[in-house]
Amino acid sequence: MSDRPLRVAVVGSGPAGFYAASALLTADPPAEVDMIERLPTPWGLVRLGVAPDHPKLKDVSRAFERVAHRPGFRFFGNVELGTSITHDDLTQLYDAVIYAVGAQTDNRLGVPGEDLPGSWSATQFVAWYNGHPDFQDLEFDLSGERAVVVGAGNVALDVARMLALTPEELAPTDTTDRAIDAIADSGIREIVLLARRGPAQAAFTTPELKELGELAGADIVVDPADLELDDASAASIVGNTNATRNIEVLREFATREPAGKLRRVVLHFLVAPVAIVGEDAVEGVEIVHNELVAEGERISARATDRRETIPAGVVFRSVGYRGVALPGLPFDQARGTLLNGGGRVLDESGAPIAGVYCAGWIKRGPTGVIGTNKKDATETVQLLLEDAAAGRLPRTSERRDLAQVLAERGGDPVLYADWEEINRIEKAAGEPRGRPRVKLCSWEALLAAARPDPS
Ligand SMILES: Cc1cc2nc3c(=O)[nH]c(=O)nc-3n(C[C@H](O)[C@H](O)[C@H](O)COP(=O)(O)OP(=O)(O)OC[C@H]3O[C@@H](n4cnc5c(N)ncnc54)[C@H](O)[C@@H]3O)c2cc1C
Repeated sequence: MSDRPLRVAVVGSGPAGFYAASALLTADPPAEVDMIERLPTPWGLVRLGVAPDHPKLKDVSRAFERVAHRPGFRFFGNVELGTSITHDDLTQLYDAVIYAVGAQTDNRLGVPGEDLPGSWSATQFVAWYNGHPDFQDLEFDLSGERAVVVGAGNVALDVARMLALTPEELAPTDTTDRAIDAIADSGIREIVLLARRGPAQAAFTTPELKELGELAGADIVVDPADLELDDASAASIVGNTNATRNIEVLREFATREPAGKLRRVVLHFLVAPVAIVGEDAVEGVEIVHNELVAEGERISARATDRRETIPAGVVFRSVGYRGVALPGLPFDQARGTLLNGGGRVLDESGAPIAGVYCAGWIKRGPTGVIGTNKKDATETVQLLLEDAAAGRLPRTSERRDLAQVLAERGGDPVLYADWEEINRIEKAAGEPRGRPRVKLCSWEALLAAARPDPS
């Protein structure tokens, strides 16, 4: 085994990438880490997914900044795996590669009318209001009176809440100016959230649910009839703190008299869309009422023959993110993850591919909170270090440098100091307006900020 430090490429700079980098840089002996990111900005969904009115959650980026300043760390933004650099390149350049590329697309509903104008994935809307440079050209028509959000997870709650926030609530956030204006000017008066199963099965967490009842500009509406639990659901929440608290919160919501605020958020359980209807654009959502069926531990929804159409001008589909296959790497289509065992990427026969690992959403699927990725990424690094110690990594004494390879190909990486310049400019623009930052949200603006004119 060579005496030089391990050289590891981490692809993706979200929580999983940074937690993996942290575990590598603090290993004994420490490894060297090059982090490769397709965007000019780091932090993945912490910057571009987490709702802007949750600034405390975005503070985790401070921990990532400390990781980035450790000796042995380099950041290569504006470098996309699959275009600027390939998996084969990385296996030539590094002793090991950890893929932490997240889940880059969303699940489909699979109903007619899903692609009508006005039917959007939550992924698109979230990326737009958070300033993702690939999504700024989207035009959301929020002039209709009703928006329907399909889904019962925290992302669906984020979307419903963002649509309901007042200009005063949005003003101190880093939501893009365009999104703040569009939400302030929107004609939406009612936001209906559709949950396929009952309140006991909803995936949202209690603090996020509670927030819906604390909005300055929107009443919360829940039908008490939706909260009558069948025997299986009642039994299923015993010992499940989150579900029990959710039901308590929902029951309290159901007792409320609307205060006559500008908007209403309506939570509707046991209903699923069967079609998104409209001539040339969304005009409504046809729903079916469901009943619950218990099969062992699993409580699933079964359609009844009761249907109705909810008129709506816009629909947001929030039924889960999904990982995308990476060129040259085995993919588990059913789970939407790289084929892996605990973070070791496996070939089709189930054997580990030497030196190739994964962490975060591309390893376990799009579940859990930011912190879940810490344990997940640390476990992956543990396996990598075990493999290194056992001589299972393909190590050679001579390796070329990524910077040199990119330069030869005419690449234009955004290094960590370049990102710090973007960060400084964004924060300076936010400061006088009492905002954490005003995001630069086009590729041109981001790259121009990263390469200040020397004159
Ligand atoms: C809308 C939304 C809201 C959320 N809100 C919360 C919350 O309030 N609290 C909470 O705890 N958790 C929240 N989460 C969950 C949290 O964001 C995730 O657990 C976490 O971001 C997953 O980390 P990751 O590193 O696996 O993926 P990501 O954060 O998605 O990072 C992946 C990174 O890889 C990069 N990448 C992708 N493909 C390539 C490629 N080919 N080449 C190079 N780079 C690439 C991406 O640009 C991205 O930067 C939220 C998630 C979403 C979607």
